[in-house]
Amino acid sequence: MFRYSTIKDYHIALQNGQTTCVEAVHSYIQAIHDRSSLNAFLEVYAAEALQYAALLDAQRTTGTQLAPLHGVVVGLKDVISYKAHHLSAGSHILENFTAIYNATAVDKLLAAGAIIIGRQNCDEFAMGSSNENSAYGSVKNAVDETRVPGGSSGGSAVSVQAGLCMVSLGSDTGGSVRQPADFCGVVGLKPTYGRISRYGLVAYASSFDQIGIFAGSVDDAALVLEVIAGTDDFDSTVSAKEVPAYSEELAAAPKKYKLAYFKEALEHPGLDPAIRQQTNYFIKKLTNAGHTVQSVDFELLEYVVPTYYVLTTAEASSNLSRFDGVKYGYRAPLTGIDLTELYKASRSQGFGKEVQRRIMLGTFVLSAGYFDAYFTKAQQVRRLLSDRTRAIFAEFDAIISPTVPSTAFKLGEKSNDPVEMFLADIYTVFANLVGIPAISIPLFQHPNGLPFGLQVMTSHFDEVSLLRLSKQLMDISK
Ligand code: GLN
Repeated sequence: MFRYSTIKDYHIALQNGQTTCVEAVHSYIQAIHDRSSLNAFLEVYAAEALQYAALLDAQRTTGTQLAPLHGVVVGLKDVISYKAHHLSAGSHILENFTAIYNATAVDKLLAAGAIIIGRQNCDEFAMGSSNENSAYGSVKNAVDETRVPGGSSGGSAVSVQAGLCMVSLGSDTGGSVRQPADFCGVVGLKPTYGRISRYGLVAYASSFDQIGIFAGSVDDAALVLEVIAGTDDFDSTVSAKEVPAYSEELAAAPKKYKLAYFKEALEHPGLDPAIRQQTNYFIKKLTNAGHTVQSVDFELLEYVVPTYYVLTTAEASSNLSRFDGVKYGYRAPLTGIDLTELYKASRSQGFGKEVQRRIMLGTFVLSAGYFDAYFTKAQQVRRLLSDRTRAIFAEFDAIISPTVPSTAFKLGEKSNDPVEMFLADIYTVFANLVGIPAISIPLFQHPNGLPFGLQVMTSHFDEVSLLRLSKQLMDISK
């Protein structure tokens, strides 16, 4: 039977002839089938994945170095473009849309030998925290199918959690990789804004969006990041900074770090008491292990969620204006209506409730009468957050916090209360507002039996420290 632990071990097993790529793909196709009630995949590319796996098996010769992701079975969130495959962003409006080019991250995966196994369910246009906003049904948490997997990249998180693929690519605008990783007990990495090209990623809020990685280990996440990061002529916001060999950097000797946590985050009344307690206990363990951990005041915490929702809805209202029933996707039946009516009907029928809510909110905060009161104000707060962040990283190597204030909630529990759903993003949106890298690592188990994680954040483009520290923290928690 095929068993997976890390890419490194898988490659050793391939080279020793203990397994094959075909065997791996077969086992994942079977697992996806067996766990179809999770609704994690919208489409499985079984035949082509098997065909490519056979090709890789035939090409492999003993003694030669394998490509970094040779035979690695990857799932893609349904917002990442894979040429000649459907791409729907979890929305009816793109139900019949076929991607016409590869996202740069996909090109890089393929060039490194990865096998793409399928397209994963997500909240419509990546807007949500529970996957209940998908036009194709909710995804279920594999630990307890009455609970949400988190969102918006729920299908991608569950796929790694339930062993339906080796790694997944998701997207993180305000926590959509870290929050479901936390709820599902896997590693979820959002790199620095500009580390990975956004070319071919369906835009939600362009100054926040980043492709992120779900994996079972920090090592796998580091290796995938190393492959997909880096400069790209198709995305002017991507950094030209050299991409370190993250996976090799992980082998460096352990280090003592200087860590900060926000007092307001751990004292927040909305934080589940058991999460607070275990995080505090872990902080003590870190201190005992020789790290310095200090509390810092972060009086701006209560502003992060409103700032995030003003700015992202504004950007979304502009980005999603391209879905008008003319250029792309769904068009309402054309009987006797004028162009404005056609736009209205196509958008009302094609977009779901949450997406419509955000387009309206965003249009409102950008409207002439309210622009200064909301949009400009939020931009000013974003600037304050950046200044404060810079000051913190002048003193500390990293900031730690819970990833989410609660564990995975029940399906339907929050779906009628958007504000409560928004508030659950309190710890994750900060990293996107200021553009720093952040990861959720699965360290804890709640007395209710559900997993939860610790979020670690470092300064811009310091993924090396982020990954090294995360690996050390995973060891400390053992
Ligand atoms: N939950 C957040 C939202 O709904 C984050 C989404 C994301 O990161 N794509 O906006």
